[in-house]
Amino acid sequence: MHLFRIVARGFACAVGLAGGAAAAQTPYFQQVVDHVIAVQLDDSEHELHGNITTTYTNRSPETLTFLWIHLWPNAYSSGKTALAKQQFRDGNMLMFYALQRELGRIDSLSFTVNGRPARTTPHPEHPDIVRLELPAPLAPGAQLTYATPFRVALPSGSISRLGHIGQSYQITQWYPKPAVFDREGWHEMPYLNQGEFYSEYGTFDVSITLPENYVVGATGDFVPGAADNAAEERRLDSLDALTRLRFASSDLAPDDFPASATRTKTLRYRQSDVHDFAWFADKRWNVLKGSVVLPHSGNEVTTWAMFTSKRGDLWERAPEYLADGIHYYSLWNGDYPYRQVTAVDGTISAGGGMEYPNVTVIGTMSSALSLETVIVHEVGHNWFYGILGTNERTHAWMDEGINSFNETRYFATKYGDTLGFAGTMLPKGLARTLGFSNLSYPLTDQYSYLLTSRMGVDQPMSCHSNDFSSTNYGTVVYKKTAAAFAYLQGALGTEVFDRAMQAYFDAWKFRHPGPDDLRAVIERVSGKDCAWFFEGLVPTTDRVDFRAGRVRRGTGGREVYVWNRGGVGGPFELSVQDGEGKWASAGWNDPLPAGTGRWVAVPEGAQAVRVDGVEQALEYDRRNNTTQTTGVLRRMDPLELRLLTGLEQPYRTTVSFLPLVGWNLHDGWMPGLVVHNEVLPLRDFGWHVAPMWGLKSGTLTGFARMSHRFGPWIARAEARRFSAPAQAAGYVEEVYRRAALVGEAKFHRQPTSPWSSAVRVEAVDLRSDAAPVPGEFVLPVVPPRSGRQSLGVAASATWKGRRISHSLAVNARAFAFKDYLSSPEALILTADRSAIFTSATYAGAFRYDGENHTVAWRVFGGTSTDAGVFPVLVQGSSPTVDPMRDHLFLGRVEGGIEGAQVAALHGGLAGFRAGRGSDFVLSATADADLPVKLLGVFAGAAFDGTDALASTGLYLRLPSSPNTAGGLRSSIRIPLAATGWFSEGVTYRPWESIAVVVSIDALNPFRFARNVVN
Ligand SMILES: [Zn+2]
Repeated sequence: MHLFRIVARGFACAVGLAGGAAAAQTPYFQQVVDHVIAVQLDDSEHELHGNITTTYTNRSPETLTFLWIHLWPNAYSSGKTALAKQQFRDGNMLMFYALQRELGRIDSLSFTVNGRPARTTPHPEHPDIVRLELPAPLAPGAQLTYATPFRVALPSGSISRLGHIGQSYQITQWYPKPAVFDREGWHEMPYLNQGEFYSEYGTFDVSITLPENYVVGATGDFVPGAADNAAEERRLDSLDALTRLRFASSDLAPDDFPASATRTKTLRYRQSDVHDFAWFADKRWNVLKGSVVLPHSGNEVTTWAMFTSKRGDLWERAPEYLADGIHYYSLWNGDYPYRQVTAVDGTISAGGGMEYPNVTVIGTMSSALSLETVIVHEVGHNWFYGILGTNERTHAWMDEGINSFNETRYFATKYGDTLGFAGTMLPKGLARTLGFSNLSYPLTDQYSYLLTSRMGVDQPMSCHSNDFSSTNYGTVVYKKTAAAFAYLQGALGTEVFDRAMQAYFDAWKFRHPGPDDLRAVIERVSGKDCAWFFEGLVPTTDRVDFRAGRVRRGTGGREVYVWNRGGVGGPFELSVQDGEGKWASAGWNDPLPAGTGRWVAVPEGAQAVRVDGVEQALEYDRRNNTTQTTGVLRRMDPLELRLLTGLEQPYRTTVSFLPLVGWNLHDGWMPGLVVHNEVLPLRDFGWHVAPMWGLKSGTLTGFARMSHRFGPWIARAEARRFSAPAQAAGYVEEVYRRAALVGEAKFHRQPTSPWSSAVRVEAVDLRSDAAPVPGEFVLPVVPPRSGRQSLGVAASATWKGRRISHSLAVNARAFAFKDYLSSPEALILTADRSAIFTSATYAGAFRYDGENHTVAWRVFGGTSTDAGVFPVLVQGSSPTVDPMRDHLFLGRVEGGIEGAQVAALHGGLAGFRAGRGSDFVLSATADADLPVKLLGVFAGAAFDGTDALASTGLYLRLPSSPNTAGGLRSSIRIPLAATGWFSEGVTYRPWESIAVVVSIDALNPFRFARNVVN
């Protein structure tokens, strides 16, 4: 039922329905896999050599004839794997340019099943999955053992989660591992960076052989007395003592790799009730050992922190973070069921840290708080991933999101409201200016979610991992889910909520729960229908938006009308303000269906009431949540003036200002002020006004804009006024005023899809004061001063396809305008003009080295039905060919450096007069960055219907310029040779043909902010 609504909202994910029906009919079962692995690390070749024996017990009601086996190291084997493709999509070209030795693979496999050789069949699409064909069918309840040797060539650790950085080893997803077979069927899946795992539970018995001087952090406990375990336990204890001594004398171990010992050691680990085994090895690590007593059982858990000296100052407190994390997660969700937890310091590329059973790896951290955050988060995954083994690929919110909720709760509990989370990431002064310094930790989750929700680009929490845009993976999967669970906690009450989460833990530990299983437990324990959560917040992008309305005197006292303006029919809290201005909660109310209202009793003596005063719902707009119960101005919020901008103050109307200085050739320097209502996260309605004074022209200049977003549509009204001498029909214009109404919509239904489209309609009113050109013959009927007005309408549609290294854009723009040349007394002259402009651009770029130097190419074709109105330009939009003043120019004159600005590319071929154009231009251009900073060579050719043209020269890329294929590439272009210069005897004057490609309008921070997400 929600499928239609999701699609209709514009942003969606491919909703996976596979297996849903089957799951309802097949009773829950779970396969059992027990692994015995012996592996040796070769740290000169960066290879693993191992043998694995897996006992597979078929607990399903089906007879199996094959097993899907994951060979995830093969995800690193080429630029064509699912991993590589996902990274390209997100703009990471690392695997595309990686050298052979930086890639990785698993090989030397030779499977046997119950001792008999067995065949494997490659997966039709993914080299990191194979099908192990069973020599004999495996009946329900039966067991088999398969075995194989293997060799893993370890990839560079900067690609994803498996690999090495020098001799620091991160050994994850490294052995042949069966895919999950459950009530929905098989879940074979390629390895991905964005999108995690789903694995069968069982036991691991792993023996690791490596040079003696490595420190190892791993899943599992030492098998007592086995291999070199006893000596290793003594060694770790002495390393712990040594590290403490070194901290005392502020002299940590050096941070370069010592030579590897020639003698090796073998460490043997065992763990049961886990679904993965990872290990990390480094010769440089300091070691800190600690312990924590569990809140429910009183059992003791050993904690290990293993870290290099690089940020040893931060890691000194890691044992505290480990202990506190284990304590609170156990307290709220159920006791940690294992005997040890380890955090290791590693350089990883998949986010700040990564979780595995018992052991987590942490990236390089910049502050104590970020180290604590990442350690607590990754340790927390032992519950939401490790113990509660949800399919993370399809229900990422159930591990990342619920884990993030617990992480937020941890910080709010441990530090209270004093933490000012976001404030710690910014310099103190700036954080105060922006209003971040006292933002509570839980509100950070809500604001992060609002960031994409208010842009209209968010996606439902329930999307498949690989369908999320990388922004939404953070703001929706982590942050919206965290905020949603805080809402659920508020609505159910903490005591009931905790009981429900502990019941969920007890019922589903070491199993594979899905969303329905979680819902069933929560509804059973709470006795409440949670449809608003599981059918509202989870699978849709519907908003939560309550509004406090009228207050009346009812039969039992005063009542306030609460209206649900949002799409989620959730419960709501009501807070009341007493006579002294203090707010207190009056409790939660039952779910209110979307689009309906209800009268709610107001306690006596309340001065004001506020819906969700406890700030636990994901309120889209809190400004309509408060009502005064008495007085005339019941809904007026106090006004706040602020410098720059900042975090929204939900119960205040904020107006911000900032001094501003502009410049153009005709107005000179323009001091002014920008006043605006923009806050973070951006709201649907925004406006800014920037009056300035032109010191040279002695006139008022400036710009203003307001915009409102409705779903995928944005409506805008904008105006600007600047001086711009330009000749037209014997007159010189002096000052122009441009006002426009714009409606535009972007359609990018599936953020991970390469296709997008946009439409735009625009009405423009352009007026200017004009005077006759000095010295020209003037008709006696034309008055000495006059005005000119152009009214135009334009509509355009763009369709874009983006691939890894190339893109195609097709744009059509039709516009018509009417010119009036008038005196104050009478209309003198009118003209109707119109044109349809159509263009297609096919562009691409490839990077030829590791330093972002590219060769970019572009093919352009454009036509215009009337070149006299709107020509297709060989070079691009310029000060003199911009009939509707679409672009901002620093000077509106022809020739020389003052008129060199090019605002938007047509043919894109620099070296020709700004106005050179016709009703048809076909061009091909190429830009090659030289292997020096910002400098490059361009060359290109064009045909304009009559002449063939060509030019070449140098360009200087403007720093931090967008370098999108086909888009505007900000640069200064210096043509050195062009056709026409020689044949017509034209002298080359570089300053006359320089083109400065830059769009000033795109630099407007307000516009930039509204375009920045997706
Ligand atoms: Zn996580």
